[in-house]
Amino acid sequence: MAKRDTVLVIGGGVIGVCSAWYLAEQGREVVLLDKGELCSGASYGNAGFILPSHSVPLASPGALGSGLRWMFDPESPFYIKPRMNLELLSWLWRFTRSCNESSVRRAVPLLRDLQRASLRLYEGFAARAELAFGFERKGMLMLYRTPQGYEGGIREARLLGEYGIEFRTLDNSGVREMEPQILPEVVGGVYYAEDAHLDPRGFVTNLARLAGEKGVDLRPQTEVLWIEADGNRISHVRTTRGDFQPDEVVLAGGAWSPTLAGNLDLSLPIQAAKGYSITVKRPPLCPTIPMLLGETRVAVTPLGDRLRLAGTLELAGLDLSINRRRVEAILKGARAFLGGLVDVDLIEIWRGLRPCTPDGLPILGRTQRYENLLVASGHAMIGQSLGPITGKLISQIVCRQEPEVDLTPLRVERFAQEQ
Ligand SMILES: Cc1cc2nc3c(=O)[nH]c(=O)nc-3n(C[C@H](O)[C@H](O)[C@H](O)COP(=O)(O)OP(=O)(O)OC[C@H]3O[C@@H](n4cnc5c(N)ncnc54)[C@H](O)[C@@H]3O)c2cc1C
Repeated sequence: MAKRDTVLVIGGGVIGVCSAWYLAEQGREVVLLDKGELCSGASYGNAGFILPSHSVPLASPGALGSGLRWMFDPESPFYIKPRMNLELLSWLWRFTRSCNESSVRRAVPLLRDLQRASLRLYEGFAARAELAFGFERKGMLMLYRTPQGYEGGIREARLLGEYGIEFRTLDNSGVREMEPQILPEVVGGVYYAEDAHLDPRGFVTNLARLAGEKGVDLRPQTEVLWIEADGNRISHVRTTRGDFQPDEVVLAGGAWSPTLAGNLDLSLPIQAAKGYSITVKRPPLCPTIPMLLGETRVAVTPLGDRLRLAGTLELAGLDLSINRRRVEAILKGARAFLGGLVDVDLIEIWRGLRPCTPDGLPILGRTQRYENLLVASGHAMIGQSLGPITGKLISQIVCRQEPEVDLTPLRVERFAQEQ
């Protein structure tokens, strides 16, 4: 049985581990639980992009246009498994309502500030030799094969430019000067110099190890079964390895957060969006700058002696099965821009579940309903990017300090108030 004055962090992904780290830095006693190994969820094999240039939320007019086109094609970058599910239908309705320019313009400066703050924290971590996690700041190259795709990319870059994000547009010879392996058919691209990339698993597992050395009680293979409340407080967290009566609880369960909060009368509309990554041995002619391949939405990340291709967004519930057609679609999508260079020895095929909210913003803060419960979830495509700043903000809220960012747009109850 844990002591009463502990903070119990549920979920050992990037969000939970960063929260545990910053809470320990503030002198709190922390227990960090995961049902599997630490970093066995979405934080394990993602593309590792840290992208201030990705400050347009998933819910945007562009997503609606291409989403509708792609929705029922099992080889497209975005797919919804057809099924009658009230939570999914209500999520899609809310998502559609958020896909408008004014919501996007409200979200961009907030996401930009969070991304930049997180990038600064990553730079601090990268300076610690014991954390080595392949952090590099080489920018990111968006590439397009079609004139329409390229025009859309330039439009998005101009929107981001209005908010101070710098970019450079490049024609085919411009992109091939940066990365000669890019095929001649590629029309052009947009280069964002501010962005960085890293090995996500290296970061999360090394930071967890360091947190353990700092006194965080790490409990892998400890599955939360129920969270119980007594009035306006969480009283017990029941797990497969004993009960906890913590002072504060941080719910950082990624795509599983709504299930974990199942009996708490909270509205957490988070849909699991499955994505895959394929990690191969570094090819002889390997790109050195991370790339996002516009029309096929495949991310390409050089990771030391490996190269990672990642992509697809599939709303199919908490389903971790691997669909061969979608894995092949990622390889095909990469070949369309880079040719056969990706056909080298396979290291690992992986899938993970992104926790997606319908408005494209994370859920971050203390709940109104329970005075000792905080939620840090719903980071969708940018959870790796936002891990450190999320953890820091969580520690500030637990310690009753003024958070360094205004968190009103991210408040937990925003969806309940909508109903
Ligand atoms: C293909 C792909 C590519 C991506 N690329 C990027 C990228 O380039 N940049 C970026 O910023 N983001 C990227 N993302 C998104 C990013 O991976 C996620 O936003 C992020 O990992 C979410 O972190 P998390 O800690 O909330 O969730 P997770 O890492 O999923 O952690 C949640 C943890 O909770 C645990 N858990 C669940 N239920 C229980 C329970 N009952 N008891 C105890 N523990 C429990 C799980 O085991 C899991 O370890 C990508 C995602 C995918 C799938």
